[in-house]
Amino acid sequence: MVNVAMDGPVGAGKSSVARECARRLGFIYVDTGALYRSCALFCVRKGIEINEKNESAIADVLEKELSLTIDLIDGQQHVYVNGEDVSYEIRTMEISKAASAISALPAVRKYLLETQRSIAASNNVIMDGRDIGTVILPNADLKIFITAKPEIRAKRRYDELVARGSNVTLGEVLVEVNRRDYNDTHRKEAPLKQAEDAILIDTSEIDFEETVSGITELIQSRCDPEA
Ligand code: C5P
Repeated sequence: MVNVAMDGPVGAGKSSVARECARRLGFIYVDTGALYRSCALFCVRKGIEINEKNESAIADVLEKELSLTIDLIDGQQHVYVNGEDVSYEIRTMEISKAASAISALPAVRKYLLETQRSIAASNNVIMDGRDIGTVILPNADLKIFITAKPEIRAKRRYDELVARGSNVTLGEVLVEVNRRDYNDTHRKEAPLKQAEDAILIDTSEIDFEETVSGITELIQSRCDPEA
């Protein structure tokens, strides 16, 4: 199986780039952020406060009460919490914050580790996240780290949120992007960092098509799905 790890900070364009590369190559695209978001949504709905103090209670409730599954429909990943499609609900600002907090808990990362590895073991995947190249798939065939300047990432997130009808300002989104960057890079467990053997791609100055075709060619030249 070919495993491509695609890591990077929020708004770098990872998910849209990874999804399109996967479509062109016939690979499965896995958005691991959606798994953290779904765990966060589950806890928020249950009224469990997400903090270190509640870590073992959170792990316990996830283990015992949550069935998390993903499915691909027309190339789009859908994520299900106990059978309910929550792909839309997990995209709010509230759940973004909760996901950032829950992803800092080692017990939650452990809970999601096997889910991610088992998907990669049986499929040609492009897996997008924060620690795919460093922790989840250290032996990935190809590791890519996508980034862009914070202002550009905030603008992309802002456009996405506004298109979905959200009533936010660009300033608020930039504050949120900076806060999540800080949380992602400073957490003790599996912080966001470029794997030593990852290829760095800065998308600040290159457009979507250029990024996608460049990465697709890279995957084709480095990885053989038949091997
Ligand atoms: O990528 P996305 O913004 O959907 O991720 C939601 C949250 O989950 C992020 O704030 C990040 O902290 C966390 N995350 C993570 N590890 C991953 C994917 C996402 O910690 N592999």
